Amino acid sequence: MSNKVKELIELYKKKGDTEYYGEKMTKTKHMLQCATLAFKNEEKEEIILACLLHDIGHFLADDDMDGYGVKDHGKLASEYLKNIGVSKKIYKLIEKHTDVKRYLVTKNINDYYNKLSEASKKTFEIQGGRMSNEELKSMDRDIKLADMIKVRIYDDKSKIRNREPYQMEKFIPLLEKYIK
Ligand code: FE
Repeated sequence: MSNKVKELIELYKKKGDTEYYGEKMTKTKHMLQCATLAFKNEEKEEIILACLLHDIGHFLADDDMDGYGVKDHGKLASEYLKNIGVSKKIYKLIEKHTDVKRYLVTKNINDYYNKLSEASKKTFEIQGGRMSNEELKSMDRDIKLADMIKVRIYDDKSKIRNREPYQMEKFIPLLEKYIK
């Protein structure tokens, strides 16, 4: 295993076996569930890896949302991943994943807000609440929007306590491929 991948795995081992805010499961399990769902749906490799890595920002700073994690975890994750050499295709899908929630709520796509978990509803306001027209337009211009929405939907579906995901080992070859 390369040193960078090792470093990443160590981070999960050190920080990941802690509760995923308000969801009664660990952060690592949540991300593994997310990646497993994307894998089973035969998504592109960058979507699978974005799912696997999307919440590592919660490992990189202290909770600043009253027990619901790190507000800027998308940005922190994307900076960290960029620095360790993760492909831009991947960290760009993670950077705005809380904004994607705000986008989907504001557009009211498939009654999105009502389907969010209680914890995710709580953080919604802290993360900025509904989007302005300007913000919506800027999201609409993002060529990665469709892929970002996919990651977000898998994220929302990955909070099921008794569903066993693939283990981290399964994804190591992919990590090796996209971290240079
Ligand atoms: Fe998540």
